[in-house]
Amino acid sequence: MKAMQITAFGGPEHLRLADILTPEPGAGEVRIRVTRCGVNPVDRSQVLGRWTWLQLPHIPGSEILGVVDKLGPRVSTVNVGQRVGVALRLFCSQCHYCLRGQEQLCMADPRTTVSPAIPGAFTEGGYAEYTIVPALNAIPVPAEVDDDSACAATLDGVTAWHMIERARISAGDRVLVVGASGGLGTLFLQLVRQRGAVPVAVTGNMAHLAAFQDLGAETVIDRTAGNVVDEVRRLTDGRGMDVVLDPTGAASWTASIGALARGGRYVTCGILTGAEVTLNLAPFYAQEQEVIGSTGGSRRDLVDCFDAIARGTFKFPIHARYPLSGAADAMRALSDPSRLGKVLLEIG
Ligand SMILES: [Zn+2]
Repeated sequence: MKAMQITAFGGPEHLRLADILTPEPGAGEVRIRVTRCGVNPVDRSQVLGRWTWLQLPHIPGSEILGVVDKLGPRVSTVNVGQRVGVALRLFCSQCHYCLRGQEQLCMADPRTTVSPAIPGAFTEGGYAEYTIVPALNAIPVPAEVDDDSACAATLDGVTAWHMIERARISAGDRVLVVGASGGLGTLFLQLVRQRGAVPVAVTGNMAHLAAFQDLGAETVIDRTAGNVVDEVRRLTDGRGMDVVLDPTGAASWTASIGALARGGRYVTCGILTGAEVTLNLAPFYAQEQEVIGSTGGSRRDLVDCFDAIARGTFKFPIHARYPLSGAADAMRALSDPSRLGKVLLEIG
């Protein structure tokens, strides 16, 4: 089969198209003929060498849609020919958290204390014509959900869905969406609005103003034009934001914490711009603020996400599509300042 492999750590130029043996599913596994694979910052972080245990060559790709192509022994949950999305967490089914349906907290692999156990990072991923996943990770897609949306739901969709739950957003909350043009940001705007809350987008590219408003943004703050915290205080009569959804990490931490209202909740799901931050506990405790972590989501979250897409309640803006052989350009497109939404590989 054809697969795009990371052959050395560095930049996207180290992605190489290779012809390799088509993998065979083991017990409890299925082989998927990949039709779409999302391109995400987590893939780029693998090329950059941030996943220290990766053996090269390695096939990235964690946002996977395809058709079940072959069953390994002792698989009864899916059938050959079914269209499936790949649930984002590898899990043991037996630990304290798996038994509660919280596979995203599975404690079977000690590496998960700092890195999520995702297909494509802990296993070979979806930048390939075929991939192997545990059968329990193959989640059937409702017929009403198109391929692009079904693919994007498996990583961005489920991550945004779960993070909105973790944020405990209620009607009337003012919610700052940091990184509004990304795959997650474009979903946050829609999901926040659907909860009757008021999303405020932060962006470095005001060319997307109309698109953000179309997705539900009440107001858009240009982070290149001035101090984000000052602008938040001005917009909220000094009160600040009830919730800040920030998937970007250290670079925006100071502004995001500074923008919080009393009782406000900062929610993070990633460390793209760095993991180390400092926190002044005095205003934090005195104003009863919270810092909340959120990582991916469960299979239940993915099923709920598919159902919501089938009902037409939100959409995934697609920035660009590439063939498998164009994966390096697709990865570069993640950094395109004009990007709004998803970058996808169309494979099968
Ligand atoms: Zn577990």
